[in-house]
Amino acid sequence: MTRENARTETSFPTARCAACDRTVLTYVDFDEIGERRRCVHCDAAVDSELQWIGAPELEAAGYQIGEPRRSGGCGGGCGCATRRS
Ligand SMILES: [Zn+2]
Repeated sequence: MTRENARTETSFPTARCAACDRTVLTYVDFDEIGERRRCVHCDAAVDSELQWIGAPELEAAGYQIGEPRRSGGCGGGCGCATRRS
């Protein structure tokens, strides 16, 4: 895996995206100048300082992480979420 995943398992790289005007989750992209961070929403390059935040902070920023549903089934997507009783 990447070096960043080795940093800590429960941190997510976020930064301020000027285009989205909010704190966004970022991903690594590579271009001619090397590693670059981009906004997951608009793909704009994000040059502001990264903030590594934990799951609770990420959820507070509006992201859903972790298991979608715990109440039986597979979490949806396959039709088995319909309860049979
Ligand atoms: Zn953005």
